[in-house]
Amino acid sequence: MVYISHFRRFAPTTIHNFLFSMAKFMLVFLCAFLATSLFSNLLAQEAKAYNEKEGANLVKFYADNPLPCPVSFQITFTEANNICGGKDRLVVIEPNVNRQFLFSIKPCNLQQKWSYYWKYTLQYGDANKETYNANISYSLPFPKGTSYKVGQGFMGNFSHKDTYAVDFTMPEGSEVCAMRDGIVVQAKGDSDKGGPDISFDKFANVIRIYHPDGTIGMYLHFQKDGVNVSVGDKVKRGQVIGYSGNTGFSSRPHLHVEVYSASPTGKKTIEPKFKINGAPIVIKQGAVLQNGE
Ligand SMILES: [Zn+2]
Repeated sequence: MVYISHFRRFAPTTIHNFLFSMAKFMLVFLCAFLATSLFSNLLAQEAKAYNEKEGANLVKFYADNPLPCPVSFQITFTEANNICGGKDRLVVIEPNVNRQFLFSIKPCNLQQKWSYYWKYTLQYGDANKETYNANISYSLPFPKGTSYKVGQGFMGNFSHKDTYAVDFTMPEGSEVCAMRDGIVVQAKGDSDKGGPDISFDKFANVIRIYHPDGTIGMYLHFQKDGVNVSVGDKVKRGQVIGYSGNTGFSSRPHLHVEVYSASPTGKKTIEPKFKINGAPIVIKQGAVLQNGE
């Protein structure tokens, strides 16, 4: 039987902005704003980059980050004609920051037309941070005394290619526990849709927990209303955070977990060292693992 899950793409939100103006006559001909989201508009409402025109020849860029973790914005100018200041850049915004000024752009030559097209992607976490605690142990994401089968392990050739992720086969409604202490930075539980196609990706109910070393634990496919934590909650290892399901890109009820860090090129998954009572656990497809902690 095949297990599907995911969320490979690191770019939850992309926003495009197009501005075309004639500097000499100070006429703005077109300003169009498009927003698309890979899995939820929720994130766009939480952390975002935007720009504002100030006078005829100056545009300022800002970012908001109301989340309790840093957020990294990769800003790209896909078109820049007669623009000064419009270089591509990665900016990291600290937690709980509103309207942080990033940079401004203006026409290099006021006598010429100027136009640009920009977009951004964002990631939870600081994409410039390269180190993390490689020795920390992780608990299995279900309660003590329960056992579940590994449906797909690290680098699984179905949907975990190049990804340190684990799928645990579990009936819908099974208790899911935090693998490590941290703070909740995403908690989405309003979806009731799932299916065996990437187009269902955006319907996944998901929890992300930001760890003290800057890594993020991601838990996917919770059942509808099966998320019982909120953004900003501090959670402890072993704490029940929700109930498993089959939402998102998923062909059968299961829990998908992974640990990753943000990076300039996107999400980089990390091999979590699972332990039970201090003893290392080997994650192998087909193995039934009992949490003995
Ligand atoms: Zn998976």
